[in-house]
Amino acid sequence: MSSEKKPTRAEVEAAIKTIIRWTGDDPSRDGLLETPSRVVRAYDEYFRGYNEDPKAILQKTFKEIEGYDEMIVLRGIRFESHCEHHMAPIIGRAWVAYIPNGRVVGISKLARVVDLYARRLQIQEKMTAQIANTINDVLKPQGVGVIIKASHHCMTTRGVHKPDTDLVTSRMLGCFRDNALTRQEFLGMAT
Ligand SMILES: [Zn+2]
Repeated sequence: MSSEKKPTRAEVEAAIKTIIRWTGDDPSRDGLLETPSRVVRAYDEYFRGYNEDPKAILQKTFKEIEGYDEMIVLRGIRFESHCEHHMAPIIGRAWVAYIPNGRVVGISKLARVVDLYARRLQIQEKMTAQIANTINDVLKPQGVGVIIKASHHCMTTRGVHKPDTDLVTSRMLGCFRDNALTRQEFLGMAT
């Protein structure tokens, strides 16, 4: 992603230590001694999505589908992400649909594409588009629809403190964009 050399684990742990000191706490007290290394391990998990190729996930497809050409919808895929403005959690669900064009992908792969993009610093609008565009580019289906509903901790637990809000975004491509009935059918499944 960046041309700068990736920082070492020790450098990141030192940065976490600095943040702890900045809060006013003492990083050398017993309860906090292991915290920098734990935080780095957690970040490793939160941001694992940078090391994977989204297109590779969707490479393996199945052609023997007896002419199946109706909508395929994976509903309510739970994900955890982090906003790129505050690095605060974004907790939500995604609905991913497509109408195949001669080949389909294993359904778990749709969830993996969602997870991959979630495990990066994100804004929800961009993540919604990335998921739809990737499926569209690799599978070349008749159409793709993605809806995401998520709550953003940068505004539920801080800032304006609106805990019961969620943000809804969608991206419709191909027949999901052009055909009002297809779009309606999908929207009906995502409420
Ligand atoms: Zn934010």
